[in-house]
Amino acid sequence: MKKIGILTSGGDSSGMNAVIRAATRTAFNNGIDVTGIVRGYKGLVKGEFRKLNRIDVSGIINQGGTILKTSRSEAFKTSQGRKQAYQNLKDNQIQALIVIGGDGTFRGADIFGEEFDFPVMGVPATIDNDILGTDFTVGADTAVNVALDAIDKIRDTVTSMERIFVVEVMGRDCGYIALESGVAGGCEQVVIPEIEYDVKRLTDDILQGYKQGKISWIIVVAEGGRKAQDIAQDIVTLTSLEVRVTVLGHIQRGGRPTARDRILGGRFGNSAVEFLLQGQRAKAVGIQGDKVVSLSFKETAAKRKSLNTDSYLRLIRVLT
Ligand code: ADP
Repeated sequence: MKKIGILTSGGDSSGMNAVIRAATRTAFNNGIDVTGIVRGYKGLVKGEFRKLNRIDVSGIINQGGTILKTSRSEAFKTSQGRKQAYQNLKDNQIQALIVIGGDGTFRGADIFGEEFDFPVMGVPATIDNDILGTDFTVGADTAVNVALDAIDKIRDTVTSMERIFVVEVMGRDCGYIALESGVAGGCEQVVIPEIEYDVKRLTDDILQGYKQGKISWIIVVAEGGRKAQDIAQDIVTLTSLEVRVTVLGHIQRGGRPTARDRILGGRFGNSAVEFLLQGQRAKAVGIQGDKVVSLSFKETAAKRKSLNTDSYLRLIRVLT
């Protein structure tokens, strides 16, 4: 193998740069050239390729986002788009591809790899930690810590002003960030898409606590669970207490990657190249316990990874 391509695709997450750095350096150490493909599958179809040199990946380990930029591509979902992508890889003598992204990215990679018998290695990087077969994805730890930092700041005002706050964090289909930051932030309630929203239970808890003299609450909600504004309205209607709302939004995608995400990104990037060198293909790297493993795309795509919501919610119930 003389040359590989690398791209980041779908939603960005902090630590993608650590993966790019590790994969590129591992490739160089094995005498392999690296082509950076700009803007994910969009750039693959358009032929937006640039050679990566050692200097390109130095000083990026601590940067959020991705130096290769990322995007979503409708063209790559068509067979004509993928044919063009394959032609571009052939024209540039690229013999294997590393794709860094989430389950959508892996779906595309699986189809492409099968269609053209082309070696592809996936690296799971998503803030939701929702890829089946890996304990962690790159970027999830940073997103949780960014949300937690905001919750900690909100807590200062919550306790000083004695208020109820509803904080909306990211997670359209998945309550990972909400549950992790909710437990770590000592929050009173968490609303997530995996569990049906129970307005009566929520407001009964608040009213019961209020009767016992409790006057401040933080309720964390994953965006897919319910809109924070709607929950606030429910609480006002059913308890007549004052409620404030904070929507954290895109700040959760950014920020300096945590040590965990940098190390995970380093291990994943390194293993992705090593697995390719071993002749593995149509696989994604993952971590199980302390071991980096390779997973088939079919395994990662079999279903959505389910969270152990009970253990988080139990902890919240018992400790608040
Ligand atoms: P993520 O990788 O973060 O889950 P998306 O779901 O947006 O992000 O997927 C990223 C890209 O992967 C899409 O824009 C598309 O180009 C490609 N992709 C997703 N699903 C398919 C598919 N079924 N066939 C081909 N390409 C796909």
